[in-house]
Amino acid sequence: MKNEHNIHRIVVVGGGAGGLELVTKLAHKFRRKKQIQITLVDMKLTHIWKPLWHEVATGTLSSSDNEINYLLHSHFHGYTFELGTLIGLDRTTKQIHLGPIINESGYILAPARQLPYDTLIIAIGSICNDFNIPGVAEYCLSLDSQQQAEQFHRRFLQRCMQMEYSENQLPLNIVIVGGGATGVELVAELNRVVTQIHTFGWQQINGNTIKLSIIESSDRLLQALKPKISTAIYDDLSQRGITIYTNQRVQSIQHNAIITAQGLSIPADMVVWAAGIKAPTVLTKLDGLEVNAINQLVVHQTLQTTVDKNIFAFGDCAYCPQDENKKAVPPRAQAAHQQASLLVKTMQAYLAGTELPTYHYHDHGSLISLSQQNAVGQLMSYIPGSLFLEGRIAQFLYWLLFKEHQAVLLGIWRTVFMTISNFLTEKVKPRLKLH
Ligand SMILES: Cc1cc2nc3c(=O)[nH]c(=O)nc-3n(C[C@H](O)[C@H](O)[C@H](O)COP(=O)(O)OP(=O)(O)OC[C@H]3O[C@@H](n4cnc5c(N)ncnc54)[C@H](O)[C@@H]3O)c2cc1C
Repeated sequence: MKNEHNIHRIVVVGGGAGGLELVTKLAHKFRRKKQIQITLVDMKLTHIWKPLWHEVATGTLSSSDNEINYLLHSHFHGYTFELGTLIGLDRTTKQIHLGPIINESGYILAPARQLPYDTLIIAIGSICNDFNIPGVAEYCLSLDSQQQAEQFHRRFLQRCMQMEYSENQLPLNIVIVGGGATGVELVAELNRVVTQIHTFGWQQINGNTIKLSIIESSDRLLQALKPKISTAIYDDLSQRGITIYTNQRVQSIQHNAIITAQGLSIPADMVVWAAGIKAPTVLTKLDGLEVNAINQLVVHQTLQTTVDKNIFAFGDCAYCPQDENKKAVPPRAQAAHQQASLLVKTMQAYLAGTELPTYHYHDHGSLISLSQQNAVGQLMSYIPGSLFLEGRIAQFLYWLLFKEHQAVLLGIWRTVFMTISNFLTEKVKPRLKLH
């Protein structure tokens, strides 16, 4: 299992919801084993938990206050960080290829590199699936990265500024395509922000001038969850004046309009595409590793890729069929978290040469945040059925999910101090970023 230097190199690519938890736990577990070296590779320098990106997009979460810098984190937790984008793989020589580091002006800061591994774990997440629908790439924004969330925030503020200082009072139509968790959470948060901006002094910004809509192709929002949750969410969003289109499949996006297969033309000045996911294309170019139709690496229940047992994949970028019905594990932070915990045990067994544990998805329920005012969700319980939750309790449990992630990365005490510090900061600083 070791190389000629008597060191086993575990390389994890992707420091997101799953990858960063995994390297943190591995580094703690193998702290005293000098012959095990853990390296994290990410194409960014910092991490923000992805389920918070819609708050970055609306300006209710300041990215600078909530980022974890990988270099600092690796220093304090005992692993190595390598900045780079995975672009290829050589399984024979056991090396990954990292692309050059290029700045915004196109200047090459560092050349392309190779990084050797003994065990490779891939957790590079997912991006939005545009299903090759005409106009999506041209006219839509998405929340595929923190930068895109920040870009949406900048454009949104610019459009608000234009409206505030313009004579021409045409409404601004913001449309979210995709009635899943991302779309619903984003539209609810935007609604709250519009109200707040009005309160802070931009008088032209209100529910009549900024029109929010959400489009879903199936017959209800949050199709993957229980109908009771969809109904509660529908009622909440409708009461806020958000237009909900169901049974509308987007056929094309045009300048200022969305055309549906059912014949509607929906006015749209800003469109956010949040309808389904696919894994990054690079996974289809990894030296013959098997991928499914949406580019996810196909893995066994041990999370080993089907083609190479020294390569593991998990989180959104992996397709891990579950035993009974071959149903895939859903692309959720919850699954990435569970798989990261399992992979710590897996690595111990793998290095000891014993049988690897298998992954079984445990659905602990889903919580959907409807901005700070509300949350709705279901918690799976051990008694038959599930527990429906709404309001403050659901909001609190949603917040706890993030705190659980923070506690894995920072430890319990730091998380407690950070929470207190954030609470105090919010008392002296508005929670909305307007620049
Ligand atoms: C707005 C929004 C709200 C959500 N809300 C919820 C929720 O409430 N509950 C829930 O369970 N799930 C939610 N999700 C889904 C959840 O965020 C994902 O399922 C989860 O983040 C997947 O974790 P991951 O580790 O697989 O990937 P990610 O967290 O996406 O991390 C991938 C990492 O890989 C890096 N990377 C990507 N490509 C490369 C490359 N080529 N080379 C090097 N590094 C690379 C990225 O920089 C990133 O750090 C939400 C998603 C969004 C967008």
